[in-house]
Amino acid sequence: MAASFLDTPIEYLKGIGPQRAEVLKSELGLFLFRDLLTHYPFRYVDRTKFQSVREVSEDLPYVQLRGVIESLTTVGVKRGQRLVAVFRDSSGTIDLVWFQGHKWMADKLKTQTEYIVFGKPTSFNGRYNLAHPEIELAGTVDMKLRSAFQSVYSSTEKLKSKGLDSEGLRKLIRQLISQIPPNAIEENLSEELLSDFKLLPKMEAMKQIHFPDSNSLLQKAEYRLKFEELFFIQLKLLRLHHINVKTVPGAVFSKVGDSFNDFYNKHLPFQLTGAQKRVVKEIRTDMGSGHQMNRLLQGDVGSGKTLVAVLSMLLAIDNGFQSCLMAPTEILANQHFVTIRELLGPMGTKIALLTGSSTTKERKLIHTQLESGEIKILIGTHALIEDKVKFQNLGLVVIDEQHRFGVAQRAKLRDKGKVPPHILIMTATPIPRTLAMTFYGDLDTSVIDEMPPGRKPIRTSHYMETQRLRMLGFMKEQIALGRQIYVVYPLIKESEKLDLQNLQKGYDDLVKEFPQPQYQISIVHGKLSSEQKDFEMQRFVKGETQIMVATTVIEVGVNVPNASVMVIESAERFGLSQLHQLRGRVGRGADQSYCILMTSYKLGADSRTRMETMVRTTDGFEISEVDLKLRGPGDIEGTQQSGVLDLKIADLVRDGQIIQLARTAAQTILNEDPELNLEKNKDLHKGLIQREKTRPDWAKVG
Ligand code: ADP
Ligand code: MG
Repeated sequence: MAASFLDTPIEYLKGIGPQRAEVLKSELGLFLFRDLLTHYPFRYVDRTKFQSVREVSEDLPYVQLRGVIESLTTVGVKRGQRLVAVFRDSSGTIDLVWFQGHKWMADKLKTQTEYIVFGKPTSFNGRYNLAHPEIELAGTVDMKLRSAFQSVYSSTEKLKSKGLDSEGLRKLIRQLISQIPPNAIEENLSEELLSDFKLLPKMEAMKQIHFPDSNSLLQKAEYRLKFEELFFIQLKLLRLHHINVKTVPGAVFSKVGDSFNDFYNKHLPFQLTGAQKRVVKEIRTDMGSGHQMNRLLQGDVGSGKTLVAVLSMLLAIDNGFQSCLMAPTEILANQHFVTIRELLGPMGTKIALLTGSSTTKERKLIHTQLESGEIKILIGTHALIEDKVKFQNLGLVVIDEQHRFGVAQRAKLRDKGKVPPHILIMTATPIPRTLAMTFYGDLDTSVIDEMPPGRKPIRTSHYMETQRLRMLGFMKEQIALGRQIYVVYPLIKESEKLDLQNLQKGYDDLVKEFPQPQYQISIVHGKLSSEQKDFEMQRFVKGETQIMVATTVIEVGVNVPNASVMVIESAERFGLSQLHQLRGRVGRGADQSYCILMTSYKLGADSRTRMETMVRTTDGFEISEVDLKLRGPGDIEGTQQSGVLDLKIADLVRDGQIIQLARTAAQTILNEDPELNLEKNKDLHKGLIQREKTRPDWAKVG
């Protein structure tokens, strides 16, 4: 009985007929009482205070005025017709304007009568006005009943035409709250949580969030509801993690054998960094546990993730298993193939490359050799997950730069082994810690937080167009020192044609500035065939060309240690994480490296912040925090599909601290009671099930 009240369709609420119900559903997705109740206010306004007309400015989100209407005039013709009321208080006058329903308002309003008006000021022809303000006869208003925290709800034009503006919605919600039977809103957090975190009970929080009695109760209500929302996400993710770890069997990599040892002792080109050692150990322990590994490996560009992948794959070989490594682009797959073949070649390990450009003949051979178990390591692009590709005994899947792979594609990989293969996801796209906790909250994480020794921090400068000559001079100096240079142009779909023209023009200008035969310049962009791209890349890799003009195809993964200058053209058009990725292409050798951000003279505030951030720091995590603040979590790559952004009240940017608390709380509870069977946790269990019922998408996280 109790639960069914909240599940009542909204048309059963007094004041909502079939028509209003229809728009509430189509415009706001509100179907049930519970949906209306969680249509939270997006801000609160103080209705106890008045402003004077003289104080009105467009910077104020709203004003409340008290005064008299001096005159009422209908002006304009046809659709432009409107009612203008000149409203005066002791400090001056302002126009009140009605476009819709102006005839009705003209009849209703009286001059020389005192009113209270409330609305958003805008300016028109140098005069302030309030369009469609709320207006009441001053004599009928009891100010003692006015709230200093009146809720404001988001609405739409369609809703407004049905009388459901913020005010209309507030009335409905007040009506609904007054009808809630005792205990209809069940507490879904445990007593323990309520007292440990001093949280308001659910019903109280619901009332206070819509109709706060004081600022402090409003804060408490917000805190309680945010905590609840984030807590259940974390509980869900950590249970998923628990289920993975405890119940999904995985290949047991119990021993460290000849392949690993040989490589480690004889062929390792350099000492592992402390961070690499630690991470390899974490992976080894995980893969030896008998359960499937699901691990995220985060490490800034150039931190040496490839080597960690190689060592993990050698462990697979030592335990009789095959591995594959999946890269987002052919160029990157190629480069991984070359690097890994060089590393493992001396030991005779059989490695193969499978991409979209592999010929039918090559494919056939690879398929046969995979099924016979001859190939130990397969490297490739998404061609790897085609159904035709069958392994004899796949034990480990490494995914580089996972944000380009969808959840479904990853799931497909899991079915490729006899037991689900271990999964290692590598990413250099820095994400703030609190976000990672939510987006990858069901994965174990390892972090490489140390760069290989001898790296000098890249020096970054921001040049305006007027300083181009200086930049060209600098390029000449560096080339004279034997270095190589990237010059990168933006290329986005919407302006592809123009972008390609810019790239071509940039190339032509450079050819004039750096004439043959003294200088050689490569050019690479997405419109070239993969053979052409490969040919040009190889010329640069071998040092035959000094300058590589390119679009962002070089963004991910390319490794040319001798390239020490990265020039980014129209840098204001790139996002921060992209700029950071691009800059990571240099600084891989022993030489001092440089990044030059070229922009036009006029920059918006956000662009300026991006340039300043790049110049100030090379720390990927710091950059990601700035990025998050500038763009909001919705735009961070790969997060759109995850469903966790469908938050009703919590904010992943501002509520990082609550995320941390909620995760720790969820972890503590699951450590003691993984199945949530204890009596004291039964509300949590119910709450979790309830949430999954109402949030179908949410299960896809991670
Ligand atoms: P990323 O983490 O961006 O994938 P890579 O694996 O491509 O980084 O490594 C970047 C460069 O650093 C490569 O040239 C690699 O050979 C080198 N490198 C990796 N680990 C070490 C180390 N421990 N000491 C010195 N150089 C290293
Ligand atoms: Mg890499």
